[in-house]
Amino acid sequence: MQLSANGQKVFDARYAGKDENGQINETFPQAVHRLATTASIVEQDQHYWTTKFTDVIGNLLFVPSTPIWANVGKTDRPWQPGACFVLAVEDSLHSMYDVLHQTAMIFKSGGGTGYNFSSIRPKGDLVHSTKGQASGVVELIRLYNASANMVMQGGVRRGASLGILNIDHPEIKDFINAKLNGDLTNFNLSVGVIDAFMDALNQGAAWELKFNGKVYETIAATELWDMLIWAAHACGDPGIIFLDQIQRANPVPGKVMNATNPCGEQPLYPGESCLLGSVNLAKMVKAGAVDWDLLRDTVSLAVKFLDNLIDVAEYPLPLVDQNTKSTRKIGLGFTGLADALIMANLAYDSPEGRSFAGELTRFIQQTAHETSRELAEEKGCFPDWENSIYYPHEKRRNAACITIAPTGSVTAMAGCEGYGVEPIFAVAYTKQTKVAGDFEVFSPLFLEACQRRGVTADVLTEVAQRGTCQGVTGIPRDIQQIFKGAQDIAPRDHIKMQVAVQKNTDNAVSKTINLPNSATVNDIDKSYRLAYQLGLKGITVFRDGCKEGVITVGEGKP
Ligand code: ADP
Repeated sequence: MQLSANGQKVFDARYAGKDENGQINETFPQAVHRLATTASIVEQDQHYWTTKFTDVIGNLLFVPSTPIWANVGKTDRPWQPGACFVLAVEDSLHSMYDVLHQTAMIFKSGGGTGYNFSSIRPKGDLVHSTKGQASGVVELIRLYNASANMVMQGGVRRGASLGILNIDHPEIKDFINAKLNGDLTNFNLSVGVIDAFMDALNQGAAWELKFNGKVYETIAATELWDMLIWAAHACGDPGIIFLDQIQRANPVPGKVMNATNPCGEQPLYPGESCLLGSVNLAKMVKAGAVDWDLLRDTVSLAVKFLDNLIDVAEYPLPLVDQNTKSTRKIGLGFTGLADALIMANLAYDSPEGRSFAGELTRFIQQTAHETSRELAEEKGCFPDWENSIYYPHEKRRNAACITIAPTGSVTAMAGCEGYGVEPIFAVAYTKQTKVAGDFEVFSPLFLEACQRRGVTADVLTEVAQRGTCQGVTGIPRDIQQIFKGAQDIAPRDHIKMQVAVQKNTDNAVSKTINLPNSATVNDIDKSYRLAYQLGLKGITVFRDGCKEGVITVGEGKP
């Protein structure tokens, strides 16, 4: 039970128990034990399950997500395990500030929140009680953004949020352009797009912006779309969520799902939350082949672990407690897909690589569903089961099981190179830090492969300067094929990987579609349309250097 040096840093900074002076007083094995015993509280044979959970988490086969490590089982309460929340804001000052308060409570306990703001009246509308003018959606987002700055999460990170506005809201143009000036840094923005809009776009038809049945403006669908892709090209926001696609996969269709958590991987009902965990795929490949038995056992234990935590959880709000327990959604996913692909000698952007990823996800999903069925037999179905698509033939303990999260912190703790479903960022890159200045980082897997093949130091220097090994003389062909960073992979191939994994994912997939700095607005256009055609639930693009980047590939980039 040991962490890498980097892993230990993440653990110490974010997850380890601390005393009143902020001094660390918990080791990694102690924290594993804390999680394992807490998740076993609801079991009859607590000793047996504690041993099982300790084994699977301690060996980093299964890695629960940040709020679980940071909160669950600690003497400091609450034991809040959820990373993902969605809240509904109504069109009243009372609701706006109520939800702001709820959000603060969620941030404090380590979660992120998504909102669909479409029920808020647009800027300039009449406020009946005061006869003044409504300040509108974008102004409300500014308020929430400022609040997120204030509420530091566990003193470590600021709260992340996702604001969604539907494509027919009268304030949609301001929303689309809201991040162009570099503001709203705590918010991701996504436009809620429906099939009818895509039809209008494809037919070159007009599109109405309306609120409460009143049409405010009629605009060519193409004009609105152009605005959207132009802004996404300029600053990475907004992304899109495809609302009808999300609704088609809704396990309890009577409840509307019109928003996701901040990184887009978890569509939820208003007031619902979800807890996450990842299978470490780097540990599932042995001598180039997947150890399916190990994967099955890991997934099965992970599902039971996450499901048990729903019962011991202390949610920040009664509303969230009730909604979360009525569906019992869990979000099991993975990290280290890129590592697994490299170990299996498969290129991320090859048909074989995609089918490998798809097969792994299918197996994880199938196993998770089997376990959820068994748990339903043993402990009962989720309370909303009778209103769900599973009723009456298929028992389930959880309305949904699979979510592919960004795994921003747990990947480093697990010692993987690839985050979530992402390829390795780059085989070498310059990291810009405020504290330590700029320095070069190599992918350890890449270095190892190069050393095995006798690649010389000056060739590696060239790779570091370019930020890629593609086309570098002295790097063997097969290494070039396997070791592609996010920027070496065509946007289309990023999307195809997202599709391969989404097919077997109950919830959604958090994925960044990387584009080179030279990508055009037309490239964004193609990516967003392709995402819709291929049935994705959402898409986010990132053009290198379009935001004040933390990491830049190669030297001399903006
Ligand atoms: P981790 O690796 O820390 O477990 P992820 O990077 O996979 O977490 O993120 C999963 C989800 O956790 C996000 O989609 C979001 O809902 C929540 N989350 C992550 N970072 C933040 C943050 N800074 N503030 C609030 N919520 C966050």
